[in-house]
Amino acid sequence: MIHPTPSTTRRAPAKKSAREARAPALTARPTARSLTALREEAQHCRACPLWKNATQTVFGEGRATARIVLIGEQPGDREDLAGKPFVGPAGKLLDRALADAGVARTQTYVTNAVKHFKFEPRGKRRIHKKPNEQEISVCQQHWLDNELRLIGPELVIAMGATAARAVFGRATAIGKNRGHVIEGQPLASQVSADVLVTVHPSYLLRVPDEDRDSAYEQFVADLKLARRYAPAG
Ligand code: SF4
Repeated sequence: MIHPTPSTTRRAPAKKSAREARAPALTARPTARSLTALREEAQHCRACPLWKNATQTVFGEGRATARIVLIGEQPGDREDLAGKPFVGPAGKLLDRALADAGVARTQTYVTNAVKHFKFEPRGKRRIHKKPNEQEISVCQQHWLDNELRLIGPELVIAMGATAARAVFGRATAIGKNRGHVIEGQPLASQVSADVLVTVHPSYLLRVPDEDRDSAYEQFVADLKLARRYAPAG
């Protein structure tokens, strides 16, 4: 079972941008026909309550023609403030693991199952809170499914239980399914792609010190399976 890491950043949440404050609410399904237009629509999403306390929508980033799409759970504290996915400690670990696996992040598209940061305020800290089934499902149907439809990747890498839930449309055990590519999967998004299930990189930040090296090596071994889809330069 994957348990997300509490955020340890002590900064107070940023105020919403004037642009976001002015934005018309979007609750209907998006209709965008390009990734750029979809990203713009997502900035105004009000389809579940998570937008209320977050700073901004954190949409996916990367190549619109990527053969590999990496999916995490939700933005963390740093990502929420920066408006970019995987820029915090887990993102840096992911970058290192991709490099060690021989997969260029520049060849991929990186996103999250849920696009707003869900947290619990504790003093000046914002403690990560796991999105619930409804939030995962609504966000997946609005945004993730459309990202996958517009990109049409050959390989989807679901990192952690929330990502796997969004990709398959049902709970999927990580331990039982990692370590091999599941070929030609019809996904919840109606797109068919190969799928690689692995842990979320934030998991590696929480494992006990004595287990960290082997957990990292196992993560890199999983990512190496993606090398044939987009090797590093
Ligand atoms: S978490 Fe997803 S569905 Fe909920 S408001 Fe944000 S973008 Fe919309």
